[in-house]
Amino acid sequence: MGFPVHRLRRLRKNEYLRNMVRENRLNVENFICPLFAVHGNGVKQEISILPGNYHLSVDRIVEEAKEIRDLGIPAVLLFGVPQSKNLEATEAYDHNGIVQRAVRAIKEEVPQLVVITDVCLCEYTPHGHCGVIKDGYLDNDSSLELIEKVTVSHAQAGADIVAPAAMLDGQISRMRKVLDESSHTNVAIMAYSAKFASKLYDPFFKEGTESVLEFGDKRTHQMDCANAFEALREIALDIEEGADIVMVKPAMFYLDVVYRAKERFKVPLAIYNVSGEYAMLKAASSIGKIDEFEIRNEMLTSFKRAGADLIISYHAKEIAHNLNR
Ligand SMILES: [Zn+2]
Repeated sequence: MGFPVHRLRRLRKNEYLRNMVRENRLNVENFICPLFAVHGNGVKQEISILPGNYHLSVDRIVEEAKEIRDLGIPAVLLFGVPQSKNLEATEAYDHNGIVQRAVRAIKEEVPQLVVITDVCLCEYTPHGHCGVIKDGYLDNDSSLELIEKVTVSHAQAGADIVAPAAMLDGQISRMRKVLDESSHTNVAIMAYSAKFASKLYDPFFKEGTESVLEFGDKRTHQMDCANAFEALREIALDIEEGADIVMVKPAMFYLDVVYRAKERFKVPLAIYNVSGEYAMLKAASSIGKIDEFEIRNEMLTSFKRAGADLIISYHAKEIAHNLNR
């Protein structure tokens, strides 16, 4: 039976009615705030392409972590900018590496905040690739050995969740194994399961972690943006290997993948609203071309509508301020 019995506009008549029947809402608990740790003291330097986000030395990252906790955001995702880079990526698994120091400081001062660490090597190698290069190609199995070391060192520092970002085959099972063998059975894994080879990461690498590729690209390990079924295979394998949370990255152009993943797998699903997405929105807003507030909310709500449970976003603090108002 259709019109005139059914008039869908009845429930859109005013804001009270629209609120009552709203299917998806943003909650501050859904957000994960990325943080960039750097060496030094007293450093709080805004990342110009990601306004509102900073390079923070360990002392200042603790202040930031307190502010994030006070806003009600439950978790941070930590990246590190190392002092020096080398082919073995040694700072990535150094007890006194930048991420390890930042984790220890945050867990000591703000213990309730969930600390997630990004596990990859690209910030720590001079060529900017995610592991060991052999004959110009990212070697899977020797890179896994380094990933294992990074995983254990982050767990020892006190990370609650480790987040492997390299898209190497078999990394989840290897990480689960070393975590369990080193008595870190309660450290969870959030896998960058369907991470697409995207130009939307450029602002992050150019200005965020300052790790620009010396040669080649990441298309031999990250996914082809044309493939959705393959994304489901990647996610299925990660779940089988022991991932506790799976992720789709980037966000805006990949909501079909998020939707399919949530329909298929009833596991916690994260989405990464990446630097290029943030930079585009901020740039358009800065020249007065869009209503940033409304478009940001529309965008973030679309992630939840598609099925994301957790949203990693450079907008986390902004949206928390609005939601808490
Ligand atoms: Zn990487």
